Formats: sequence, C-alpha cells, structure tokens
Amino acid sequence: MRQSQLFTKTQKTAPKDETAQNAQLLTRGGFIYKNSAGVYSFLPLGWQVIKNISQIVREEMDAIGGTEMLMSALHDKHYLQATGRWDVDVVYKVIAGGDKEPAANISWTHEEILAEIATKYVNSYKDLPFAAYQIQTKFRHEPRAKSGLLRGREFLMKDLYSFHVSEDDLYRYYANVAEAYKKVFERCGLKAYYTLAAGGDFTVSNTHEFQVESPVGEDTVYVCTKCEYAENKEVSQAKDGGACPKCGGAMREIKSIEVGNIFPLGTKYSKAFGLTFTNEKGERQDVVMGSYGIGISRLMGTLVEVYHDEKGILWPEAIAPFNAHLLALNGADGAPVYDALQTAGVKVLYDDREATPGEKFADADLMGIPWRIVVSPKVGEGKVELKRRAEAESRIVDFDEALRIIKH
Ligand code: ATP
Ligand code: MG
Repeated sequence: MRQSQLFTKTQKTAPKDETAQNAQLLTRGGFIYKNSAGVYSFLPLGWQVIKNISQIVREEMDAIGGTEMLMSALHDKHYLQATGRWDVDVVYKVIAGGDKEPAANISWTHEEILAEIATKYVNSYKDLPFAAYQIQTKFRHEPRAKSGLLRGREFLMKDLYSFHVSEDDLYRYYANVAEAYKKVFERCGLKAYYTLAAGGDFTVSNTHEFQVESPVGEDTVYVCTKCEYAENKEVSQAKDGGACPKCGGAMREIKSIEVGNIFPLGTKYSKAFGLTFTNEKGERQDVVMGSYGIGISRLMGTLVEVYHDEKGILWPEAIAPFNAHLLALNGADGAPVYDALQTAGVKVLYDDREATPGEKFADADLMGIPWRIVVSPKVGEGKVELKRRAEAESRIVDFDEALRIIKH
C-alpha cells in the first residue's frame, strides 16, 4: 500500500487524555481512534493488526475442531433472566425508542445464546461433542477504562463454547483448548503463563487464565521460576520467594495482563435452557459445557505494552500490518522497488509522501513495521539500505539480497 493512500496521519505527541502506552503509541501511529472512554475505532493500520491476530486465533481454533459462526449482538432479556445474569452491573441494557424499560442487552458474552441455539440441534449423544466460536464485539460497562485497549467498554473477543456428554469429555477438550491457546500466544510472540484462577461469574469450579507479564497488568500472579506453574493471587497461598506447590521451586510475584481465560461451565447453562441429550441407555441427561475467551483487542494492546521503545512500536513479524516499510528519500523513485517487493509477495507499505527523511524515519519507528528499506540517491542505483526495527544497525545491500533476507 502507498502511504499517501492512508487517510490517517501520525501524530508527534500523545493525546493528553491517554495515560496507557498502548493507547498513546497506537493513537500516534494511526492504528486506533478513541471515540470515548474505553471505546476505540480500528483505523486501517490497526484493523490489519486485528486481522492478523484473528487469523492466528482462527487457525488454532479450527485445528481443535472449532467451527466459526457469528451470533447476534442484541439479546432479548429472557436470555440473561434465565440464568440470573440480567442484573450483572457490566451489562449494557438497551431501551428502545418509546419504551420506558430495557427489554434487551447488547453482547457481553454468549453462553446463554449458544446454549439455547444448541437445544434445536442436540438430541442424542451422537450429536456431541461439538465446539463453535466467533470473533465479535463485546460491550461491558467497565468502571475503569483508562488502559487503552487493555480494558475497553467495547472490545473484540474470540469466544469458543464446547458441548459434551460428560465432565470427563469436557476436561479432555479443555486440555486441547489450553494447548491451542499456548500456540496462539506463542505465534503472537508472547510468553503467556497458564494460571490457576477463581471461578468468577460463569462457573463454580476453578478456571485457568493466560497471563502475560507486564508492569501495567492489573493482575497479580505467582509463577514458579523452575516449572512455570502459576496461580492467580486471588486463589493462591503462595508468597514471593515461597515454595512452588508443584515442584518446590521458588515462586515469583509478577504483574500481568490476562489475555485469555478458559472455564469449565458444567450444566448451569444447559439446565437453564433445557439443553439435554439422550444417552446410550436412552435416558435424558444435561449437556456439559465449557467456554473459552481470548481478548483479541486486548492482545493488540498487550503486544504494544511488551514490544515498544522510546521511539514507538516494534511489531512481531506475525502481527505487523506490513512486513516492510519502504522509504523513498530525497527525490528517489521508490516505485520500481515497491513493485518488485509486491511481485515477490512482500507486504509493503511504501512511504511515497513528500516529507523529510527525518519525518519518514520517525514515522517508520513509530509505526513499528519489522523491516525498513530505504532508497535514496545516496544509497545508489540497484541498492537499498535495509534495517530491522528491532536493531540499531543498517546495511546497504543489492535489492535481490534484501529480498532474500526479508523472506529468510
Ligand atoms: P477481566 O478479569 O480482565 O475483567 P474477564 O475475566 O471479565 O476479564 P472474560 O469474560 O473471561 O473476561 O473474557 C475473556 C477475555 O476477554 C479475557 O481473558 C480478556 O482477554 C478479554 N477481556 C475481558 N474484558 C475485557 C475488556 N473490558 N477489554 C478488553 N478485553 C477484555
Ligand atoms: Mg477473566
């Protein structure tokens, strides 16, 4: 893409009302736009990042048999009333024009919705197990919405739900999901600790969170320095420097960001909607459910918190909106190199704007695309200056050599 086609522009200074690094850098780089507290639009560059994260999540969910769907966002009040969740305080309720009372709520989670849908399709044990997921906008009235994408009032979530004949089968699948989540976070370039956590709103039994270490994280977690076993402080007896309950190694206290959460739900939602099946003996039984979330937009914010320096963002290659940022300086024509990169299958952003080298370099550092390629009269015909965003050194190489390096 030619940078002159982007309708967004970078900003030299951070918006005054944003304190979180992720919000400051993503706003300055032209990735997101804050509409109101905790509510962001994804601008073209930011949407590309979201699409890259979503693609990784989709591939890993598909690999464990999840089928993608898209559920409604407007929910009649009988859904949450059936499970006693209509009055949960983060739920946004909707009053239709002319009405006095809300008769619906908007998308905060979908256990009720999919449990009810499943009653139409599940009849026998032969219809189970199955798992379905969506990537969809969620709305929650978060009182503290000061962390940029880490805590939105409107945010993108991947939610997967699974349906089983027994607890045993649920826990078998639960382990598969945990493995798939590990792959998702690894592919995104993040180290996420698999952490024992409390039951929460959805379930009585323990749940597990995926926690990424960060000083701005809202969670406190104890992680074993030897075996990486981790517990959220809310359920943990551990102390900083104390012994790991699994291996005796030293537990370390960290601040962390919850990027994912998996829940064994049992039969609460099935019971509320009469979701039953006939077992092999011909008896009716409640379906056993699990639910599994990943904060897609929170992941984007987390990546910026983990991967930035004083100049801007450093996107991991799998997530970056483009692989290469081509800068044409001092009147050089970048078009031939741009075409050649595209022909070679490199996703490239071509800075074709009328701007000084200093402005172009500063923007490239801010936007954080992994490879920077400079063409200029100084670099010379047929050659480019190649630099990784994460490294200080640049080198001047023939274009073919640059292509080889970028494509590994
Ligand atoms: P938290 O404990 O952070 O409030 P939660 O436990 O309420 O989150 P879940 O309902 O488990 O969240 O949602 C699944 C995932 O969605 C979370 O692991 C998190 O990554 C993400 N998420 C939850 N709330 C938000 C939010 N307000 N903004 C952005 N992402 C969120
Ligand atoms: Mg949670």
